[in-house]
Amino acid sequence: MRLIIVSNRVNRPEPGGKTASGGLAVALTKVLRLHGGVWFGWSGKVVEEPVLTPKARTTGGITYSTVDLSPQDHREYYEGFANRCLWPIMHYRLDLVEFSRIDLTGYMRVNEIFADALTAFIKPDDIIWVHDYHLIPLGEELRKRGVTNPIGFFNHIPWPPFEVFCALPGSRLLLRALSGYDLVGVQTQSDADNLTGCLIRDIGAKRAYSGLIMPNGKNLRIQSFPIGLDPEFMKKMAVEASSTAQLRNMTDSLNGQDMIIGVDRLDYSKGVVGRMEAFESFLTKNPARKGNVTLLQISPNSRMNLPKYEAVHREVNEAAGRINGSCGELNWVPIRYVTKPYKRALLSALYRKAKVGLVTPMRDGMNLVAKEYVASQNKHDPGVLVLSRFAGAVEQMSGAIIVNPYDQVVMGQAIEEALNMGREERISRWRPMMENLQHEDIGWWTEGFLKELKFEAKNVRRKFG
Ligand code: UDP
Repeated sequence: MRLIIVSNRVNRPEPGGKTASGGLAVALTKVLRLHGGVWFGWSGKVVEEPVLTPKARTTGGITYSTVDLSPQDHREYYEGFANRCLWPIMHYRLDLVEFSRIDLTGYMRVNEIFADALTAFIKPDDIIWVHDYHLIPLGEELRKRGVTNPIGFFNHIPWPPFEVFCALPGSRLLLRALSGYDLVGVQTQSDADNLTGCLIRDIGAKRAYSGLIMPNGKNLRIQSFPIGLDPEFMKKMAVEASSTAQLRNMTDSLNGQDMIIGVDRLDYSKGVVGRMEAFESFLTKNPARKGNVTLLQISPNSRMNLPKYEAVHREVNEAAGRINGSCGELNWVPIRYVTKPYKRALLSALYRKAKVGLVTPMRDGMNLVAKEYVASQNKHDPGVLVLSRFAGAVEQMSGAIIVNPYDQVVMGQAIEEALNMGREERISRWRPMMENLQHEDIGWWTEGFLKELKFEAKNVRRKFG
C-alpha cells in the first residue's frame, strides 16, 4: 500500500531553503518521514503557462510531486477563495469574508487540475489522504475520474457552525462534494458536531448508525482526530539547542528577567494584539514587575499581499510600539517583537526557557505551538501554558490556565497567576499534558486516521460494490 498525501503546498526540503512556519507543513513532513510515500500539490511557483504533468523528485523515501499554478489560478483559487473567503469563514469571521463567484470558479478549476494530474499516477493499491480547506472538492473530482481507492480528507482548521458556514454562497456545493471521501477528519469534537450540523441542515444528510447518509446515498463518517507531534524529538531538540551560543546570547540579554513567549504566524486569528494588551494590563496592575519580565513575541509575516494581513501587521506593530513606549523604561523594553521565522530547534529552546507560554488565538484549528511549548519543558521545573478556550488544543491540554482571548483583563490575571505559580502546581499541571502528548502523538494521529479510512473504504465497497 502506497500513501499519497495531497495538500495545497508541498514542503520539499531545499538546501538552504526557508523555514516552514505552518503547522500543516511540519506535521505532513513528519507523517511522510514515518510512512514514506508521495506528497502531491502545488510547488509554490506561479508561472505563465504551467505544465500540467507533475514534476516528481524522490528524496529520503518521499516522492515530492508538484505542479505550478498560473497567475490567474493563484489569484482566484489560492489568494481569492481559499484565503480571502474560506479562511475567514472557517475562523468565524464573517465580517472579513470577501466572496467572489470568479474566485469560487477558480477554486473548483484548480481542484479539477489537481484531480487530472493525480489520476494519471494513482495505482490500484494507493490510499489517498487529502489535507485542508483548499481541496474540499478534490475527492469528488477524483471519483468523477473513476478513482475507487480509499480517499480521506482532513480539515486542519476549525469548522464553524451552520449559522456561520452556510452564509457562504456555494456552501452546498462544498458540503455535497464531501461525499467523494470515505472519511472526513477534523481536529475537535466541536468541529465534528459543527460539520455534521451543516451537512444535516444545509443539504439534508441523515444520521445513521454508521455516520451520515449523504443526499446521494453515500455513507460518510466524520470523526475528530486531534493532530499530535513528536514530543520526544521536541524535548531532545530543546535540550540540545539550549546549549547553543545563540540561546546563551539570548539568555544573557535577559539579565535574569523572566520570559514569557508567544509564537504565531502573523494572522488575525491568532489574537496577538489582545495578548500584548493583556501583558500591558498585567504590567499596569503589577508595576513592581516592570524591569523583571519580558514578553518575546515571534510572529513571522504571512500572506502579506492580502490587505487584511497588511492591516494586522500594522495593528501589531502599533500595539508593540505603543506598549513599549508607555510601559518601558530607559533600561527596559517590555515586548521584544520579531517578524522573522526561526527554526523549530531554536524555538524549542526558547519555549524551555520561557516561564509562561502565551497561546491565545481568537480561534484556531489545533495550535501546535501550545503542544510544542509543553513538550519542550524541563520536567523538574516546567513553565505554565496559558491557553485560549478557542484553540483546538484545549480539548487535550487541560493542565493549562484556560482563558477567554476576548478578555484582556482576565488574560492579564492569568499571566500573573502563571508567573507566581509554585513548582509543585506547575509539575502537576504539566505532567498529564505531557502524558497526553506522548500517547496521542503524530504516529497515533496518522495511524488512527489511516486505520479508520481503510475500514470505512472497505465497508463502502462491500455495500456499494
Ligand atoms: N514555526 C516555526 N518558526 C517560526 C514560527 C512558527 O517553525 O518562526 C512553526 C511552529 O513551531 C509550529 C508551526 O510553525 O510548528 C505553527 O503551527 P500552528 O499549528 O501553531 O499554527 P498555524 O501557523 O499552522 O496556523
